[in-house]
Order: sequence, then structure tokens, then C-alpha cells
Amino acid sequence: MMGTVTTQVTGLKHYDQYIGGRWAGARSGQRLETVNPFTGQAWATVPRSGAADVDQAVQAARAAFDDGPWGRLTGRERGRLMRRLAAVIAEHADEVAAVEVTDNGKLIREMAGQIQGLPDYYEYFAGAADKIHGETIPADRSNFFIYTVREPAGVVGAITPWNSPVLLMSWKLAPALAAGCTFVVKPAEQAPASTLEFARLVEEAGFPPGVFNVVTGLGPEAGGPLTEHPGVDKVAFTGSTATGVRVMKGAAEHLARVSLELGGKSPNIVFADADLDAAANGVVAGIFAATGQTCMAGSRLLVQEDVYDDLVDRIAARAGQIRLGDPLDPATEMGPVAFAGHLAKVQDCIAAGVDSGARLITGGRRPTADGLAAGYFIEPTLFSEVDNEMPLAREEIFGPVLAAIRFADEDQALAIANSSPYGLAAGVWTRDVQRAHRMALGLRAGTIWVNAYRSVGPMAPFGGFKASGFGRENGLAAVAEYTELKTVWIELSGATRDPFKLG
Ligand code: NAP
Repeated sequence: MMGTVTTQVTGLKHYDQYIGGRWAGARSGQRLETVNPFTGQAWATVPRSGAADVDQAVQAARAAFDDGPWGRLTGRERGRLMRRLAAVIAEHADEVAAVEVTDNGKLIREMAGQIQGLPDYYEYFAGAADKIHGETIPADRSNFFIYTVREPAGVVGAITPWNSPVLLMSWKLAPALAAGCTFVVKPAEQAPASTLEFARLVEEAGFPPGVFNVVTGLGPEAGGPLTEHPGVDKVAFTGSTATGVRVMKGAAEHLARVSLELGGKSPNIVFADADLDAAANGVVAGIFAATGQTCMAGSRLLVQEDVYDDLVDRIAARAGQIRLGDPLDPATEMGPVAFAGHLAKVQDCIAAGVDSGARLITGGRRPTADGLAAGYFIEPTLFSEVDNEMPLAREEIFGPVLAAIRFADEDQALAIANSSPYGLAAGVWTRDVQRAHRMALGLRAGTIWVNAYRSVGPMAPFGGFKASGFGRENGLAAVAEYTELKTVWIELSGATRDPFKLG
């Protein structure tokens, strides 16, 4: 957890925030510590910003949008800058990855791949930047020519969570830059440093001041003022459903457009005809990769009864072999959870799972082995005989805890899968192509993987149904989130018309 730093603490790295092309502390002069979850020790400090800092950042973004050189760039020129940014990211990928791992405990094994893949997002949307256009519309009368224009939405206020700060920010920033927007981001208090490192790369790539700004601080103190700021035209949020509701209310006060990427309780559904080795591997990837701290975690395992015991045994065996350790060691398979408060929450969910009558098959404890005691580790945990009404099956835990549920047939699998309040993603494991399509169409979720899990990319829209939010990131669909559509009517005849008649 972070706390306020009132005096200079030696040995810590001190970050400033990035506003209008300048690096500065918070106006209050206060700082927050950020803790390395592997050691449990503070390693850096960041400014503790408030409404005045947010206002300054929004004004810088507003000025860059309204008056700066950015607003005069063509799509092709924006695309060129974005490609330069992609090249700079590729050059510094290892440094950003190491900082993010130190901040949130994510495996270097995952982060290295994630950050090395980051330039792809900027290149994909750089390619879109000069193809954002309206269309001509055939009019239903001869004296009009109608066309549409896609214009940038304006200033974007982005709020990101701690699990993948730079990736989830890029899912917003890349389409926003392609569209011509300017951007203010507030990263999570637990893992703000990689976003500040990223700002250095934006600076090095040569973006005009004010196009990209970072304010750090606490949710209510910095995130709240950002969503409520009347100078923000579009709020893009990734985080929990509860905070998403607050963010939407704040944005509603000034009618900012909103997209929300929220939580999930995604089902991984395994039919008896599936390749069980592949399914077991996919289930492990879905829940134990990234220590289960992903929005798309496949935290509900739905298994057809004929293969239920077999699959649960296989997953339990693999879970027991998962190598816990230093996130910076490439051999480590699962790191700690990101902060002490989150560890306590995951432990509470496990205890409630035991109390609810589900069977704890493996895991559930804090490991005591050498080198793990100081970190916020929890064993990979598998519950079986879970009823879909139990909290284990309904509430997002955001940790390495899997709830296995039995089903008899396809209809029951669909009913159980869709009864969740969430609808972010789902996995379907089957060799029957017709069933695969029936399931893909029947599931109420934003992403369906068939014989796969946890695949994402710049070209594929990602987002939620129901309590998992709305709006789409990635793919060309994301460009629409950062543009306004303007319709232009041109009168062609010069004739005067009846002023009291619509048309
Ligand atoms: P969170 O508590 O909702 O925080 C997310 C962000 O919102 C943080 O930057 C937080 O700042 C900020 N915030 C908190 N209160 C705020 C307020 N009143 N106004 C404005 N901003 C506020 O979520 P989290 O625990 O960091 O992240 C985990 C959640 O994110 C999970 O539910 C997960 O499913 C979801 N998630 C979704 C996706 C997706 O794409 N759908 C991806 C990743 C994660 P502080 O850190 O200072 O509190």
C-alpha cells in the first residue's frame, strides 16, 4: 500500500509527473510511496496530486487541442509521430517492463512480452490515423448533398488500474492519438511508475507539449477531479465495477462521453469432447497467469460432468507444480499479488469459499518457502463442487482462485455462464464446430475464445457486456470511441423554402 511521504526518504527513486511537457511535483508538495510487492518495501515516490494539478493538466491538454500544433497535424503526420513512438518504445521496452514489475509484481516473463508487443498497438492505430473519415450520404431530395466528418472527441481523461498500467493505457492512448485527441492519464496509486517512464518515451518521440499528460495520486483526490472536470470531453476508465459507477456519475455532471472496461467473472467452459490437455493448459493460463489479476481471468471453470473429475485432477496437479518466486526471474511462473490489501482480500475470499461448503482441492495458503515469506504470495487455489450461486462463482476475486462447477449439457452450460452479472469474456473448449458456434452466439460476453484463452491484440475489439462495462478498446471500433460524428447538409439549388416546414 502507499502512504504519504512527509520527509525525504533516502534510497527511493523520486518521480515527477508530466504536465504540459514539463516535469513537476504536486502543488501540495506531498508525495506517495509505491511498494515493491516482492519485497514488501517502498522503492519509489510519486507526487500526490489533487484537483489543482488535475486542472493544470486538463488545461494543458485543452490548449494543445485547441491552439497547439497538434490540432493542425494531418492524420498522416499524427501517424508518423505514433510510429516514432512505437520505435522509441521498442528501444526502451526492457526498462519500462522492469519498472512495472518492480511496481506491481507482474512476471518479467509476461511483462517482457507485453511491452515488446506494445509498439504493435501504436503502429496499428498509426495506420488508422489517416483513414478516419466520414462518408457521403445519398439524400432523399435532389437539392441536398450530405456528408459526415469524423472529428476528434477532444480532451480525454483516462484512469487506469494497477495490473497492466501501460498496456491498458495504450489501449486508450493509441486510438485517441490516431483520432487527434489530447490525453491526461491518472494511473493507479499502487503502480504509477511505468506510466511516468512511458511519458519520457512520448517526450523523446517528439509529441508537442500538452498532448500527453500524467497526474499521479489517489483515486478520490486525483481520479475524481479528472472525471468531473468540465474540460474533459471523454472519460476512458479501466478498473472495478464499483469505481466505474462513480466515474460515470462524475462524468455525467458535465455530460462527458464515457467508456468503461470493468471487472469480470469469466467462464472457461470445457465439454467432454474437448482436447483435455489443451483445455487444462488453457484453464491454467486463464486463472493462474498474472496471479489471476486480470480482468479477463477465467475464474469460473464449467466442466461437463463426464470429464469433471479428470479435468479437476489435471488442473490440481499442474497448479501444485506452479513455480512461485521473484517476478524478475524468467523461470518464475507466478508472482505475488500486487499489494498487501489485495492479499488480504484474496485470503478473505478463500476463507469465505471454505465456509460456503465448496471443496478446497489445492492451495489456499500463503507459501512459507525461503524467499517467499516477505512477498504478498498466495498459492494457486482450486475449489471444486462450487455452486453457481456461491460468492466464489459470483464475485470477482482478482487473484489465483478457480471455482469449478459441473454441468450436464450445452443448455445448462449456457445458463450457468450467462447467469453472472458480468460479461467480459468466455472460453469454450470443444472439438464440435457446430457447438462452438452455437456457444459463441449464445454467450453474453464481449470476447469469446474457442479452444484458446487470454488472446488479445490491437486488431480485435475488446470490452464488456453487462456489469463488465461498455465501449470497445482495440480494433477500428476503438476509433469511434474517440471521435465525434458531424453531419453536413449542403443546399444545392439556392431556392427559398417554407420556413415553417421541416425538411
Ligand atoms: P479500482 O480500484 O477501480 O481502481 C482503478 C482506478 O480508478 C485507479 O487508478 C484508482 O485510483 C481510480 N479510482 C479510485 N477511486 C476513484 C474515484 N472515486 N474517481 C476516479 N478514479 C478513482 O480498480 P483496481 O483495483 O485498480 O483494478 C482492478 C479492477 O480493474 C478489477 O475489477 C478488474 O477486473 C478491472 N480491470 C478491468 C479491465 C478491463 O479491461 N475490463 C482490465 C484490467 C482491470 P487509486 O489506485 O488511487 O485508487
